[in-house]
Amino acid sequence: MNSADVFIDGKWVRPSSGATLDTVAPSTGKKIGTIARGTAQDIDLAVQAARRAFEGPWGQMAAVDRGRLLSRLGQKILEHEDELTALEALDTGKALKLARNDVKAAARYFEFYGGAADKLHGETIPFLSGYQVMILREPRGVTGHIIPWNYPAQMFGRTLGPALAAGNAAVLKPAEEACLSCIRLTELAAEIGFPDGTINLVPGLGEEAGAALSSHDGIDLISFTGSPEVGVLIQKSAAENHVPCVLELGGKSPQIVFADADHTKAIETIVAALVQNTGQTCSAGSRVLIERSIYDDFMVQLTRRFKQLRTGAHDLDLDCGPVISKVQQERVLGFLERAEKDGVQIAAQGTVDPSSSADGYFVPPTLYRMVPRDHELALEEVFGPVLAAIPFDDEADAIRLANGTDYGLIAGVWTDSGARQMRLAKAIRAGQVYVNGYGAGGGIELPFGGFKKSGHGREKGFEALREFTVAKTVVFNHG
Ligand code: NAP
Ligand code: MG
Repeated sequence: MNSADVFIDGKWVRPSSGATLDTVAPSTGKKIGTIARGTAQDIDLAVQAARRAFEGPWGQMAAVDRGRLLSRLGQKILEHEDELTALEALDTGKALKLARNDVKAAARYFEFYGGAADKLHGETIPFLSGYQVMILREPRGVTGHIIPWNYPAQMFGRTLGPALAAGNAAVLKPAEEACLSCIRLTELAAEIGFPDGTINLVPGLGEEAGAALSSHDGIDLISFTGSPEVGVLIQKSAAENHVPCVLELGGKSPQIVFADADHTKAIETIVAALVQNTGQTCSAGSRVLIERSIYDDFMVQLTRRFKQLRTGAHDLDLDCGPVISKVQQERVLGFLERAEKDGVQIAAQGTVDPSSSADGYFVPPTLYRMVPRDHELALEEVFGPVLAAIPFDDEADAIRLANGTDYGLIAGVWTDSGARQMRLAKAIRAGQVYVNGYGAGGGIELPFGGFKKSGHGREKGFEALREFTVAKTVVFNHG
């Protein structure tokens, strides 16, 4: 195979246009490879192949055998851990230790869903006398998957693991900016021996291959992770064909620190959850809400920690790497410039390693103090290493602030009071609430997804299997 091929119906082939796209290393801005520029025609062929697999050998395979194939893929990923780690770090710019974690997580998804494939069962319902009712959990059929560039390897497992475990056949459109690991993972999957058409991979541009997939009338569900703007486009085009969507669209997740919390532990976790993947994590804790009585003390400690942060090329394995592209670098720097113009004050900045290439897409980790509640830094997803600190007055104020953005993905609550932990967990409108901890992107077993602009539907855990299946009610009148 050639890295500029698409994978359709069990074969690596040239995209129908013959066109390719260059892909670069964010640490240097240098070209590292070419990928296919898949077209609507490729997507159409991929959807048809998936349909044949679903109606044929893959759809008829026993759940235990489907599970075995997925588990074997998980094992194979671990056997290629070093190679995949190096590829993921080079292609995304993320530090090696994080790339390694991502590759392990990709393997875990296939292990988890491989084990779950034969444990997904329906129900029976008591009904009228003389009747028996059963609820079958059936796969949706052909599922379309559009994923972003921030965690390509993890996303490959997160989206395909449950879809395949539930018995669907899939078409995946990875992000143009970073899809080398998805190509390699597809190659490993092909070696495992999934029936032809079970997994199809069509790299390419969002407006071309992505739009063709989300508007295709041959898919039964679309799963998308990315920006809210594209999420709206996806939903509109899917609506034309009455295709349901699972959408994960990012967040502005708060870390809420009360006076009685363990500050040292909170600071370590808050910083780690922000700088992970250079802030390019949908569930990054990008706002720290601090009880006013401890605000000054807490900021002294947080500032001290923040100043130690270091950014550099992926292979230096520092706290942060470059952001993904020139476009994202300019977007993040735009937030910094506007903050300066608006008089929002920087409390601390990390350093960019002097060895860093001037052509790499680096942004220093930046902590802002006393961010006004109506400022974009308090409300908008930056998707970079930028943390906004905001004081709050009391519990009610903290809840108001936590829920005061358009997003609702995850939240961290830091307090020793058990009753308060419970009240906040219930009051916060977010798909996950962590108490005295925070897990950005983690927890394969844990259902994950948004409220409001953060999207809808749930991924991860058994909830994802429910999304990728549909309930069918069968009513027997046995007299
Ligand atoms: P994006 O445009 O939403 O990209 C996500 C995926 O959707 C990519 O595979 C993209 O393809 C594809 N896509 C783009 N336009 C499409 C269309 N019209 N129809 C179908 N698919 C389409 O995200 P981005 O431009 O990479 O990043 C922009 C912002 O989105 C970020 O700054 C961040 O705020 C947010 N974001 C959020 C997440 C998250 O995890 N929730 C991840 C990434 C970005 P191509 O990239 O190949 O064009
Ligand atoms: Mg894009």
